[in-house]
Amino acid sequence: MDVSQTVKTDVKTQNGMIRPNTFRVIAGPCTVESYDQFVASAKAVKEAGFEYVRGGAFKPRTSPYSFQGLGEEGLKIMSEVAGELGLKVVTEVMDPYDIELVMEHAQVLQIGARNMANFSLLKRIGAAIAGTDHGVLLKRGLSATVQEWILAAEYVTAEGGDNVVLCERGIRTFETATRFTLDLSAVIVAKRLTDLPVIVDPSHAAGRRDLVVPLSKASVAAEADGLMVESHHDPQEALCDGEQALPVEALLGLKEELSPFAGAM
Ligand code: PEP
Ligand code: MN
Repeated sequence: MDVSQTVKTDVKTQNGMIRPNTFRVIAGPCTVESYDQFVASAKAVKEAGFEYVRGGAFKPRTSPYSFQGLGEEGLKIMSEVAGELGLKVVTEVMDPYDIELVMEHAQVLQIGARNMANFSLLKRIGAAIAGTDHGVLLKRGLSATVQEWILAAEYVTAEGGDNVVLCERGIRTFETATRFTLDLSAVIVAKRLTDLPVIVDPSHAAGRRDLVVPLSKASVAAEADGLMVESHHDPQEALCDGEQALPVEALLGLKEELSPFAGAM
């Protein structure tokens, strides 16, 4: 199938969601660990000048013995804190059963890399957000082609949920220096094939914080429409993905670091 003939061109740009030509940064911890942890991390996101905070309540962990997230309690913490700070919440939904609940607490529903090809979840989310102000952030699958990724997005848009943002988060390769391999060519190719905004998550791609800022700059140069970066007020103590989390000082400096590259910020 020729993907270029199937993609949407009438992307909704209202609703406060990430819009093409307007660079947006989503930042925040991998997961919500407690009220105090999320407040501290979210305040840094606000201070850094960003309007979207992320946090996981339902976590797709590799091991069933790792911390799985706080579930509904985590959602409540996020919506309360974000409401007080005037931030919008981005969080992952893994189970169709939780869609309505997540929509009560978040403006953007994330579909994780491991669920990119969960077509029944994609359809249910598409139908649920249709006609609402909610958006969807669709991560690229760990080994998905650009075509598979775009067609996955169309499972959402075909149900009427047309406020979809694609997110490149690294793919599996033979390389072990990084957790995954950030595929910036996919960003450029996807942007040629679809009008959906394409953002980059350098944190999960790299798996190490020293590469997050350089890869963010490269993403801007590749004309990504935004970034999703993990940050934590105390990365050493993070329950999940601390090694890739930007500490507060680095988050506060991110806008400045990117400003020579991102005119629209
Ligand atoms: C995340 O953003 O928290 C996450 C688990 O990402 P991914 O699905 O890309 O691994
Ligand atoms: Mn993470």
